[in-house]
Amino acid sequence: MADDWVDIRKDEAHVARERAKAQALKQTPWWREQLRKGVCHYCGKEVGAENLTMDHVIPVARGGKSVQSNVVPACQACNQAKRCQTPAEQILADLEAEGTLPALDEEDLERYLDPDNWGQG
Ligand SMILES: [Zn+2]
Repeated sequence: MADDWVDIRKDEAHVARERAKAQALKQTPWWREQLRKGVCHYCGKEVGAENLTMDHVIPVARGGKSVQSNVVPACQACNQAKRCQTPAEQILADLEAEGTLPALDEEDLERYLDPDNWGQG
């Protein structure tokens, strides 16, 4: 999928704050328990705790927060494949890779992907 039209509204203060919170979250018993399971949230493979990284489901650069509901253990392959896509964009990328992406024009896609249209809360 072309990334050029993805609008990454990066808020530096938000990113710095959430990255610091992520570091703190990594020290918690909760996160250690997630790692202890050794399973990647995305592909479900048992890769072992040492191969898991903390992944933000909604990327910090896209407004995601470092809270338990938004961080999951991910293997390096999945973490790199995901980069800074939101879950909605990932679904679209997967569909496109499978050749089953419905025929939407770019305007429809942008409306669908705009967080302002998701209905906050
Ligand atoms: Zn994985």
